[in-house]
Amino acid sequence: MSQTYVTGFPRIGEKRELKFALEEYWAGKTDFEALKAVAKTLRNRHWNYQKERHIDFISCNDFSLYDIMLDTTVMLGAIPPRFENIDDKTDRYFAMARGDDDHAAMEMTKWFNTNYHYIVPELHANMNFSHVNISKIAEEFIEAKAQGVHPKINLVGPLTFIFLSNAVDGSDLFNLFDAVVTAYAKVLYAISSLGENIVVQFDEPLFAKTLEPKFLSLLKIAYERLGVVSPNLKIAVVTYFDRANEAVEILGNCPIWGIGLDFVYGEENLDALLHVNGKMLIAGVIDGRNVWKNNVSKTYNLLEKISEKIDAQQIIISTSCSLLHVPFSTQFEEKLAPEVKSRLSFALEKLVELEQINTLWEKQEKPEASACTQKAPSVKSSAIAYTRSSYTTRFALQQKALNLPLFPTTTIGSFPQTKETRAVRNAFKKGEITREAYEASLKESIKKCVELQEALGLDVLVHGEFERNDMVEYFGELLEGFAFSENGWVQSYGSRCVKPPLLYGSVSRKQPLSVDWSVYAQSLTDKPMKGMLTGPVTILNWSFVRNDIPKSEVAFEVARAIAEEVDELQRHDIKIIQVDEAAFKEGYPLREEKIKAYEKWAVESFKASIGIAWDQTQIHTHMCYSNFNDIIDTIERMDADVITIETSRSGNKLLKVFQKANYKAQIGPGVYDIHSPRVPSVEEMSEQIKAFLHVLPKEQLWINPDCGLKTRGWSETKAALANMIKAVHLAR
Ligand code: GLN
Ligand code: ZN
Repeated sequence: MSQTYVTGFPRIGEKRELKFALEEYWAGKTDFEALKAVAKTLRNRHWNYQKERHIDFISCNDFSLYDIMLDTTVMLGAIPPRFENIDDKTDRYFAMARGDDDHAAMEMTKWFNTNYHYIVPELHANMNFSHVNISKIAEEFIEAKAQGVHPKINLVGPLTFIFLSNAVDGSDLFNLFDAVVTAYAKVLYAISSLGENIVVQFDEPLFAKTLEPKFLSLLKIAYERLGVVSPNLKIAVVTYFDRANEAVEILGNCPIWGIGLDFVYGEENLDALLHVNGKMLIAGVIDGRNVWKNNVSKTYNLLEKISEKIDAQQIIISTSCSLLHVPFSTQFEEKLAPEVKSRLSFALEKLVELEQINTLWEKQEKPEASACTQKAPSVKSSAIAYTRSSYTTRFALQQKALNLPLFPTTTIGSFPQTKETRAVRNAFKKGEITREAYEASLKESIKKCVELQEALGLDVLVHGEFERNDMVEYFGELLEGFAFSENGWVQSYGSRCVKPPLLYGSVSRKQPLSVDWSVYAQSLTDKPMKGMLTGPVTILNWSFVRNDIPKSEVAFEVARAIAEEVDELQRHDIKIIQVDEAAFKEGYPLREEKIKAYEKWAVESFKASIGIAWDQTQIHTHMCYSNFNDIIDTIERMDADVITIETSRSGNKLLKVFQKANYKAQIGPGVYDIHSPRVPSVEEMSEQIKAFLHVLPKEQLWINPDCGLKTRGWSETKAALANMIKAVHLAR
């Protein structure tokens, strides 16, 4: 009898019930009891769904009111001292998550290479972790038992916990290792009194990254200890998102019950199987983070390969990672074309897939290889020539065409999207107003935005992006090959969810994407109007991408579509075009040896999207994050004429990276932080410009905010930009 295992389940609810319950609670419209009741209903429902599909290993403690890393912080008694003055536990929990009047929220960052954000623990050298607390775990465990589920208990593993933390006092996190493992041992001891034969799943995705050997020695120490806390417990250490071969070699010799490996995103794990050493293998073979139907014959073949090295009795069939990263169910999709819907599998459907493959495997009934789906003709990189001249040649031509002053000023693209802007767009989408009325209203917004920029005295203007709900969704809606679900929500953080586009087919451009808006905006001014596009890498990284052809091929299809738009824009006399790659860094693999391949297709597809630009057409790009150290040569290879970056929060530290690399093209380091409504003074920005000039020659600098202004209000936007322009005049 083989068994099935679900690493973790989404918690936000099939109709985002948790989101709405949280937001009502935060708004003071309901009390905590009401929120707890919703949470309980959801947990019970989710357990039931898994029970119905006869899943053998169902989790508890995969639920959270905000974030599982934050729950771990509470479990370990690692409350940052700055929150200790809040007595009420619930108030404290949400203050840590979201801040309150007196406390800034804890930092939040992306969970490995996903779009899920966790709350970063704040540790310091004297933390003693002496107040471990398993009340949340006990409550969920007992609840599940009452429902006839004997759940496993999910915990973030100690190494992943420590090394995703911040040391607020700058101390070395390695020094906390002992204390943290001791705290986990206490947690396990407490858990062992909850019942017999409890599986405890430790999530250690940290070991899917390339790590120094010292991490592996800590892994050994940790699980040699945690493995023997109680004979009542079965310890499973689970990794995901990539291969974890080195960790398996260690874990195979630890006194634990099971090892979880991801064979979807880390097929190389097959080479580690000799080291599993008689432990249970939790074989992640059902893709937990993409949305396409499982290829049953491929999965069966994979299981066959695994069983060449692992005894059949030892294999547990599992999702590759928690289903947190996929939407809930396709059953609520009423508008999707059948050809798309029939290819999708969200969390509930994946439970069926687990059951299905398990049945086949048990009966040793090998499925026929699925008929090869017809492949779209693929666009090879070589099909799109890159013919731009050297940067120096281009610079001279562009300077002649544009005649820009020293320290040219611009913005990143979007201007404030007010309630009214969104209301008009929604009304149009619902068919409540005509296209004419919608377009007239957009033109009105563009006109006001252009007038404002002229009045402020900006040098390179933008149309404001009022027609865009989101920088990827907007283009997806206009391109062939994309579909949009109605209810495909995935938790991003707390109560926030995103609904990524479904890139299911061959991508092509059947109509202009932005030309009309840019041309209209340009007609209103003599200043250069910057065309605004989203780049292929960002479009891919923020979508669910088909997996029947290599990602690089999909990227080139998208690149070709963007290139066509670039060409049409320049033919309509748009002299500057920005191709945003906001999410370029997000797609980086966890494993060093895979980075080159990613950078290759990422750079090549970006270049394929801009290669068509004439030398005198100035290409800008924009990136949103602030750690460029390790990718500076990659940025160089992208060969944009101007890159605008988010740097306002890191002074000129970031620019030094460009200086050191002897970077030649122009750079617009953000001169102020748009993530806060605060209006920086002229003096402040003057200082910032001076700091830039310590690092880079004046000819290389542009002056701009550090990201799009979409989430800001109009009054602070005007005030901040006015100050920015004053600072630039002083600098000139
Ligand atoms: N052009 C986009 C905007 O201004 C860029 C957004 C981003 O970098 N995230 O909104
Ligand atoms: Zn940005």
